[in-house]
Amino acid sequence: RSWKESGLPRRLLDIVEQVGYEEPSPIQRAAIPIALQARDLIGVAVTGSGKTAAFLLPLLVYIAELEPLAEYNKNDGPYALILAPTRELVQQIESEARKFAGPLGYTVVSIVGGHSLEEQAYALRNGAEIIVATPGRLVDCLERRMLVFTQCCYVIMDEADRMIDQGFEEPLTKILDAMPAGNEKPDTDDAENPAVMSRYLGGKDRYRQTMMYTATMPPVVERIAKKYLRRAAIVTI
Ligand code: AMP
Repeated sequence: RSWKESGLPRRLLDIVEQVGYEEPSPIQRAAIPIALQARDLIGVAVTGSGKTAAFLLPLLVYIAELEPLAEYNKNDGPYALILAPTRELVQQIESEARKFAGPLGYTVVSIVGGHSLEEQAYALRNGAEIIVATPGRLVDCLERRMLVFTQCCYVIMDEADRMIDQGFEEPLTKILDAMPAGNEKPDTDDAENPAVMSRYLGGKDRYRQTMMYTATMPPVVERIAKKYLRRAAIVTI
């Protein structure tokens, strides 16, 4: 199956082509159509599978849906958050995100330990639709009120099992608890009705979408999935 059948809008298909991904990988084939239905998802996949693009592309569709409704307000913080266990992984995700988000005009900022807080505070003040972060440093920023999650209803936990191994359970749940609970997207024919949908896309009624990628499912990860994901589809490749 080809990219055309993934359900991605034309604008993104063009960017995927420019980036040079000729065919979707198995996880991309499986996960993208589910994510585009605004469903929560658990992806059981390892590095090298193409999981990064599998969660980034639907994330960009979500942000693009918000565009016609209101201008991005940087004082309300990011639209979407990606959490990952290590600085290296955050940087890989950031560079993959820039490939796709750059041409759309969205800003990606990474927040990791080992860089000055000053610099990161400056980047945050300038605003970013997408933040990629390690949970430890992000909680620092949150507690110092360097950013808010007023309009952040789209969350990806990448390598959730490794985040737990790194001791990030507490910051991870603090961050998730700081985000708006949001609503479930209506899954009836209402999804075709712009008047109904604009209600779910805007303000506090906006739907929340949470996705978790992990290689293994230890009990802690399962517990987090149960608490923060709703009726999640499970994709194993
Ligand atoms: P990931 O598993 O997300 O870390 O991706 C592994 C590598 O595969 C990265 O270097 C991506 O840029 C690349 N990649 C992801 N999806 C595709 C695709 N559909 N076609 C070719 N390369 C890809």
